[in-house]
Amino acid sequence: MKASLDRVVERLKAARRALVIGHVRPDGDAIGSVAALTLILRWLGKEAEGCIPDPVPWFYREIPGTRVLRSVEELRGREFDTTVVVDTSSLSRIGTAAELLSGQEPDVVIDHHVTNTGFGALNFCDPSYAAVALIVHEIGKRLVEYDRELAELLLLGLATDTGFFKYGNVDAQVFEAAAELTRQGASIQPIASAVLEHRTPNTMRLLVEMLSTLQLEAGGQLAYAYVSADMLRRTGCSEEDTEGFVGELRAIHGVEVAVLFSEWPEGEVHVSLRSKSYADVSRVALAFGGGGHPRAAGCTLKVARLAAAIPPIVAAARRLLEGG
Ligand code: AMP
Ligand code: MN
Ligand code: MN
Repeated sequence: MKASLDRVVERLKAARRALVIGHVRPDGDAIGSVAALTLILRWLGKEAEGCIPDPVPWFYREIPGTRVLRSVEELRGREFDTTVVVDTSSLSRIGTAAELLSGQEPDVVIDHHVTNTGFGALNFCDPSYAAVALIVHEIGKRLVEYDRELAELLLLGLATDTGFFKYGNVDAQVFEAAAELTRQGASIQPIASAVLEHRTPNTMRLLVEMLSTLQLEAGGQLAYAYVSADMLRRTGCSEEDTEGFVGELRAIHGVEVAVLFSEWPEGEVHVSLRSKSYADVSRVALAFGGGGHPRAAGCTLKVARLAAAIPPIVAAARRLLEGG
């Protein structure tokens, strides 16, 4: 059922033992929103846990509030009367955390993806919010006093989903919320440093290898490249080290659509799609069983080799640029 924010707030207030879940391959919005909502519920006197189904990339752990996050293993066997899924467009995106729902639909879904399937008992999904962290902020400011840790988690989500305040989803509401969170003690510098300045020498070697696979098509409007399992092994990197790589492809002058193919986990190829100003890449992701936003979307293909994934996606991206 489509719900108003008031309904969601009432449902959260009725919780006693709550579980908040984010998506696999977590980004700053999933991490910040899950941890922040968990803290908000705890301050309301509830037993609350926050779960991220995949390992949280190490550099996000520099943000102190992320210590509340738990893995699926750590929460196995626990009982909850209220389950909340955030920043997630479909149930398959919570991966192994599905087992914590014990076969029930989530009680509340809070999201901002255009491709959201409405898989909860109560669904609040509004793509006009640049980040789910903004929605959690709307909820939080009605219910609790913020401390620095909570404000920082929300600023983390807001900053990462807006590309640190430079994407097309940045509007006055985004800056107003950022100012509110800054007044409440959050500081953008440690967040920017953790998220944007964490590349290790090995990651830089992987970036060089990725850039050496760069292809440009459609008169330079389409850029794509890949990270193979072999490249990860050779450079001693894991998939989380590729965070931000697709942004390097989009940063090329004249590129509208950027695509990064990553051979990970084994037997699958993850496709990250980004656009700069007008192309709706969520349409390509959706056509291949994924989802996302107009300017940032993704899908995961169950194919063992990059060679099987690249041609169909590149063809679809070309058609998108041709207006098809
Ligand atoms: P990524 O390229 O993995 O950083 O993902 C970019 C955006 O697309 C995010 O908003 C994700 O939530 C969404 N997304 C990525 N992969 C998938 C997928 N397999 N299914 C649905 N949405 C996805
Ligand atoms: Mn996300
Ligand atoms: Mn988000």
